[in-house]
Amino acid sequence: MNETPVRVRIAPSPTGYLHVGTARTAIANYLFARHYGGKFLLRIEDTDIERSRPELIEPILDALKWLKLDWDEDILYQSKRIETYKKYVQQLLDSGHAYRSYVTPEELDAAREKAREEKRSFSFREALVPLSEEEIKMRKDTGMGYAVRLRIPEGETVFDDIVSGRLEKKNEDIEELIIARSDGTPTYNLAVVVDDHEMGITHIIRGNDHITNTFKQIHIYQALGWELPEFGHVPLILRPDKRKVSKRLGDKDVGQYQHEGILPETMFNFLCLLGWSPKTDREIYTREELVELFDKNYFNRANAVFDDEKLLAFNHAHIQMKSDHELAVLVAPLLVEAGLTTKYWLETRWEYLRKVITVLKERAKRISDFVEMGGYFFSFDYKYDDKAEKKQFTPEAAELLTELAGRFEKLDRFDKVAIETALTALAGEKEISKARFIHPTRLAVSGVAAGPGLYDLLETLTQPVAVERMKKAAEYIRSRAQ
Ligand code: GLU
Repeated sequence: MNETPVRVRIAPSPTGYLHVGTARTAIANYLFARHYGGKFLLRIEDTDIERSRPELIEPILDALKWLKLDWDEDILYQSKRIETYKKYVQQLLDSGHAYRSYVTPEELDAAREKAREEKRSFSFREALVPLSEEEIKMRKDTGMGYAVRLRIPEGETVFDDIVSGRLEKKNEDIEELIIARSDGTPTYNLAVVVDDHEMGITHIIRGNDHITNTFKQIHIYQALGWELPEFGHVPLILRPDKRKVSKRLGDKDVGQYQHEGILPETMFNFLCLLGWSPKTDREIYTREELVELFDKNYFNRANAVFDDEKLLAFNHAHIQMKSDHELAVLVAPLLVEAGLTTKYWLETRWEYLRKVITVLKERAKRISDFVEMGGYFFSFDYKYDDKAEKKQFTPEAAELLTELAGRFEKLDRFDKVAIETALTALAGEKEISKARFIHPTRLAVSGVAAGPGLYDLLETLTQPVAVERMKKAAEYIRSRAQ
């Protein structure tokens, strides 16, 4: 690393919610800054008046905060800096690095199309040949606007990409890009360079869909006489069908994953590995470990695939790493939201919630699973699962449930050892298998056929609740038989 302290940034455009690709790039930059003891800055690229939606800025910031990508210094908003950009456009015009061009983007497209038809290579040089004085005068007189284009010198543009190594392009293949539009507003590429320079950015890590921009931006740096930062272009994120992740194809933004019960720790770990990984067999890491292990030489070069199944496996692993108390804090509001209990009830029975978490944790792949799988811990307002009911709730089961409930009722201690001993003893006396008790009991106390181990389940529910539910189920079977 060079001596200058690292300064990196993430620069989302508020044209949509925080996309997983942008979050992945943000994480790469965050790790870069935290590992090398630098600064991680945030810039909002909101100059595209047609596509920018200011109301999306807050949700983007919320998603970054949810991922705990705490940025340093003040947020820079491009929309507040138009005058600064204009100043540099003027400077480039004055120094002869930029020129007024009356060639419209449509004319450029037409020239490109013509070259294709004539099966010859397209050249910006030819297409952007300065118009004759007469032509310019004619266009001026007819009120046609002009754009300011950057002059690209002859030669080749080469840079050493942190991710992909040496990248080069002949300058004749680089468009003499527009840096200000006919109405004087500066363009995206100009604004990015001015900001990155003024923010003192040392390393620009972004998606490799920006490589074309980088070749252009290098010329803006050079024309302004500024030192180049280092560039690193991380690969794209693909869907399992190898198409690029996109909203249009129904792919989700970060906030949606949050609402589906994915932990921020999971998302951080998972997205990190889609751009950068420590080249070990291990996949599950904490944020601190990733900060520690980060090395700018380990960026992945191949495109990464976003696999939802794998994300769930990561989430399962991160759920297991959390304490029951931490999980209880996350689950509590969801239980209230689902109408299964109240805030007050939970506050006074925190220990109960913690126990519920303990028994459900092993099976939870999403935070919302605790609510989906464990509603019966909070409410008896469930219907017995149809299929299981047909199989398990036989007239014989009503008798067994009544007898077992009677035994449970008499226990002094209602822990899983005592529960198992009582059930085993009764099955022994009746010379029937334990399963004949276990399945109807589970259905009686939970309404479903699968869940945590029955003895854990009963212990957690507590003696009075378990006994009452078993008796109610027995009554229900009998009433149904009439
Ligand atoms: N605003 C750009 C984007 O959202 C980022 C550009 C950059 O990182 O230079 O893709």
